[in-house]
Amino acid sequence: MGERKCQSIEEKQYLVRFNADTKSHLTVMDADICLNHCPDKICTIFCPAEVYKWEEIRMHVGYEGCHECGSCRIGCPHQNIKWEYPKGGHGIVFRLG
Ligand code: SF4
Ligand code: SF4
Repeated sequence: MGERKCQSIEEKQYLVRFNADTKSHLTVMDADICLNHCPDKICTIFCPAEVYKWEEIRMHVGYEGCHECGSCRIGCPHQNIKWEYPKGGHGIVFRLG
């Protein structure tokens, strides 16, 4: 009685509250590298939050959804992503569910 069921990942993600900064902490430094030298656009695959979306000729960076996992600092084969720690008080907030 009253036993709590394990939460699904979706439920856990629901408990993640975003407090997005107004300035991106993620910058794709050279758009030409993405366009002409990175056919795989692997950032659109390794980012768990789907922050990177290729839009025909440019990379859209939906930084508000970033989970701050840090993968893009090492995942981009061209070191083309500048990742700065979000300013204090911003970024992701985890709540114990
Ligand atoms: S992996 Fe790096 S170089 Fe390739 S598309 Fe993404 S940001 Fe651009
Ligand atoms: S830090 Fe992680 S979640 Fe954020 S953009 Fe990079 S890969 Fe995606």
